[in-house]
Amino acid sequence: IWPSKAKNALASMRSYLRLNHAGRTLVFLDAKTVLPTPLAMRGVRFRLPLSRPEAERGVVFVQPGFAYFLRREIAPEEAQFLDSQGRPLLVEVTTVREEIETFLGPQTVDFQAFDLGHWLREQGVRPDDSLLVTIEDWERGVFRLEYEPAQEQRQDEIARQDRELADLLFELLESKRYERVFGMEAIPTAYARLSDPGGYPGNHWLQVVYDDARIRYDGSAICYSDFRSPLERMLEGDRPIPQQSFSPAQGRQVYRFKAALKYRSGLWRQIEIQGKQTLADFDRILRDAFEHDTYDHMGGFWRRIRRGKGRRFREVELGDINPWGEGSGAEVQIAGLGLQPGDELKYVYDFGDWIEHRLTLEEIVEPEAGGQYPRITAQNKPRYRYCETCKAEGRQSRATWICIECSNEQQRQVLVCEECLSRDHEDHFADKILY
Ligand SMILES: [Zn+2]
Ligand SMILES: [Zn+2]
Repeated sequence: IWPSKAKNALASMRSYLRLNHAGRTLVFLDAKTVLPTPLAMRGVRFRLPLSRPEAERGVVFVQPGFAYFLRREIAPEEAQFLDSQGRPLLVEVTTVREEIETFLGPQTVDFQAFDLGHWLREQGVRPDDSLLVTIEDWERGVFRLEYEPAQEQRQDEIARQDRELADLLFELLESKRYERVFGMEAIPTAYARLSDPGGYPGNHWLQVVYDDARIRYDGSAICYSDFRSPLERMLEGDRPIPQQSFSPAQGRQVYRFKAALKYRSGLWRQIEIQGKQTLADFDRILRDAFEHDTYDHMGGFWRRIRRGKGRRFREVELGDINPWGEGSGAEVQIAGLGLQPGDELKYVYDFGDWIEHRLTLEEIVEPEAGGQYPRITAQNKPRYRYCETCKAEGRQSRATWICIECSNEQQRQVLVCEECLSRDHEDHFADKILY
């Protein structure tokens, strides 16, 4: 042991604990309260629903029911079980062979299971009944079992517990820097944070996650339901973007967006587009509004979703549009995105130069009679600049081009009008000036 040399020893200790121990040996009850996992998990109760194969064979599969409740360092053979009176149950670990459907066809898989046959038959086991499991000793893997027939389930209490657990898991995910939280950390933390961890248990967390539209479990971590790993992208390819259904009246409604360049936010356009119109229509009007080429380069849309309450966002891809108005996002309709005023989209023109725009929905209004959509309805007040060639000749004309070649050569901005550009800068590489 030696004294810490860190500038802020406490902060570095905290982050060390968070990174190396969260979920393994420690549970963060909140940002400031830490408990050793064995203490946090003692008395936690969870529900194990019995499937038909389990009820018929008198067994309980080790996975996935005991995932994160039976810590990985303990072999199933070492786990111990007590009945509701605290009497030890004699439980053997057995192997159950099941035929399952995989994408390679039917396969025979061996599952490890706890053989509770004698005790389960005493309870009059039937499928859909549950075991209510209390963690008596996390470190040694000791569990107390109570049997609950399906008809005795208290549905209201289960629903309330499920909501609380789902919200805790979602909040935990929202607080994470990356867009996932490993089950090893998430499950003990969420259960320990329940207002009554030892109370009547709701559904198993797998069921809770499955039923919640915000999150999903990918086999090792909780992530956002719309998150797709690179492998999933590879296997599934382009997947249609989930869209909400909307009425014809909603389809006619007008979505008023403020579109601005990310790095020149003073340059903006107000754009109105109807709910029934598509991202291809949006792409087209954005190209017009910001004077991007309409015959070259891709455009792409993302949805920006705020995480928690701060200024952190995550992005969900909505699809791309090629210059012919085709692409994975082409058919996506604005109203189908379920946007509310204040919501943000990101639009990128040209995946090479990556010109990024922020599209903020200002309001949703009724269409104007005879109005043509989409349309540009307002823009920033332009600060015009003038052609230097004309100025030298005593005329004032608006500069519409910057000659890149002359600018580079002279190390200053060479701004000219269309006429002077074609006369004096023929064959020079030039960019249009956007006001
Ligand atoms: Zn000129
Ligand atoms: Zn030039």
